[in-house]
Amino acid sequence: MRPTGKLHLGHYTGALENWVARQNEVEAGGKRTFDTYFLIADYHSLTTSLETSDVFDCTIDMVTDWLAAGVDPEKSPIFRQSQVKQHTELFLIFAMLVTASRLERNPTLKDQVRDLNMEAVSYGHLGYPVLQAADILLYKGNAVPVGEDQLPHVEITREIARRFNKQYQHPEIGDVFEEPEPKITKFSRLAGLDGKMKMSKSLGNTILLSDLPEEVQNKLRKAVTDTQKIRKNDPGRPEVCTVFSYHCRFSPPEKVEEIERDCRSGALGCVDCKKLCSAAISQELAPILEKREGYAARPDLVKDILLSGEKLARRIAQTTMQEVHEAMKIG
Ligand code: AMP
Repeated sequence: MRPTGKLHLGHYTGALENWVARQNEVEAGGKRTFDTYFLIADYHSLTTSLETSDVFDCTIDMVTDWLAAGVDPEKSPIFRQSQVKQHTELFLIFAMLVTASRLERNPTLKDQVRDLNMEAVSYGHLGYPVLQAADILLYKGNAVPVGEDQLPHVEITREIARRFNKQYQHPEIGDVFEEPEPKITKFSRLAGLDGKMKMSKSLGNTILLSDLPEEVQNKLRKAVTDTQKIRKNDPGRPEVCTVFSYHCRFSPPEKVEEIERDCRSGALGCVDCKKLCSAAISQELAPILEKREGYAARPDLVKDILLSGEKLARRIAQTTMQEVHEAMKIG
């Protein structure tokens, strides 16, 4: 994740809760299914803003949310891209294995250009998925738990891994990289409060993971619902309503059925529906908020977690780069 500060519910449903689930998944004998690594993509954040003075504070805020949501640094190293130099080295090599026109066709880039009214795209922004490929493959990642917007990037990573293996074979291990699979969740694209397709900080349509119940309620009050349901008892269409999409994720299934029925018949008005929704969201966030308070009071602990994650990440990254150099017969 890019260190954009406090996380929103889209980050949570699309990525973070999946991370925690994968981290804690165990096989029959008690062995963990995955070794999990969580990266703070601080160089990637330069693609949306060159202002870097608050990157460190945003990193601490974001990692505090990760820890509060259940990322366990004992199981999962947490580290900054900028502190493991091999990311930029592998990025450079990978940049030679993909064409500019392939990157220009990236739909995630096209969405960003449209949503943020960007007039021009930097060379580095075009290469966003190439750096991401380095982020994943440096740790021999084979499963990538991301939101739907990132699927095209995982596809480019697969193409780069294939291209590298075709061009360079390691004398002992053969293929240096495995083609990773994306792992998406059911709620891999959470809509924004304004009804836009994606909840996103840059669109200003978010509920934060750290929002107190009152804030959640205030934000939801302004959320866009079915525009044809004007009066309280007008029949509504849950399938076009953002608030209903939140119910589907945060309310219990039997409650969702009842809300759907009562919305359609006109028995449930939007004001009451939003109250139910904010209560359901805040109920799920309550333990996260509580845990968050503990970490927020100890930023030094968060920093130490980063430093030890970075030490471990560097060791793994060095081993991979050695294999890359051996395969390429460079150095
Ligand atoms: P980013 O902030 O773009 O680095 O995104 C971090 C992770 O959160 C990525 O895996 C995204 O796919 C995921 N993500 C961000 N916004 C949303 C959203 N509105 N719905 C689902 N997943 C999201």
